[in-house]
Amino acid sequence: MAIIIDGKKIAKYIKETIKEDIKELKQQHSLIPGLCVVLVGDDPASMVYVRNKERACKEVGISSTVIYMKEETTEEELLTTINTLNQDNRVHGILVQLPLPKHINEESIINAISPSKDVDGFHPIHAGMLMNGQQGLEPCTPKGIIRLIEETGQSISGKNVVVIGRSNIVGKPVALMLLQRNATVTIAHSKTQNLKEVAHNADILVVAIGRPKFVDSSYIKEGAIVIDVGTTRVEGSLYGDVDFEDAKDKAGYITPVPGGVGPMTITMLLENTLAAAKRTL
Ligand code: NAP
Repeated sequence: MAIIIDGKKIAKYIKETIKEDIKELKQQHSLIPGLCVVLVGDDPASMVYVRNKERACKEVGISSTVIYMKEETTEEELLTTINTLNQDNRVHGILVQLPLPKHINEESIINAISPSKDVDGFHPIHAGMLMNGQQGLEPCTPKGIIRLIEETGQSISGKNVVVIGRSNIVGKPVALMLLQRNATVTIAHSKTQNLKEVAHNADILVVAIGRPKFVDSSYIKEGAIVIDVGTTRVEGSLYGDVDFEDAKDKAGYITPVPGGVGPMTITMLLENTLAAAKRTL
């Protein structure tokens, strides 16, 4: 039976540290980290994510604001809002909730955020820094995944890691972060042949594909660390990409869904906002 990597619990104690750091910033420098979230349209899932982010900010003492913009907002209007936030020195982090309505080009919006305020870590400058092994603001989900793996106490160096999924927000950056930690990394995707055999070679398996219960025990090497990034809502319930019940007897460590990667993503956003604020000192 695998050891459950409890993302909720880990996130809770990281938040305690963030809270203490923010208290100190306030006392010593009168600086209150500020996050501004921009939400375009009224997608219910995005609304929930934004509310969760607001709640988490409040918990640790980050001043958060949400700018709600209507679905018909033009790209120019959104760019104007971002430019205003780029100039506002009370705002240390800007997060534009994705996905954006189809008529807005996500790439130009992400590129318009000042890299110093890009707490999502999606700006090409940050992607490039990650590629070159330079210290920038790292994307939140991959950063959270690394922390979860580190919490197992098992070393990453020299391990065979398989990342299933190659998105710019999860698969690719987490693969780079693991490579930087001296893992031997394979990135698998929808065109990968013999995926089961490839995955079966992994000491650490990260699954980020968005297909509920896709990975069962037959993909997993005995004793492997399994990180399930997937979150798919089916009839009101949240499912991961890993069939948890089937996988838990084969894996050595496993993250649950919910309560694994999700809470860490928000916590890393708080950490990035704090880091962005500290850099202004
Ligand atoms: P994405 O952009 O849709 O990318 C999915 C990736 O999975 C693609 O690279 C795709 O391959 C690959 N894939 C799809 N079906 C596959 C299959 N049958 N076999 C092998 N590879 C397959 O997704 P994403 O944004 O990375 O998100 C992935 C999942 O993580 C989603 O469920 C999302 O909701 C979740 N997520 C959770 C958090 C969190 O905080 N918990 C954060 C971000 C994302 P191709 O490139 O070949 O198409």
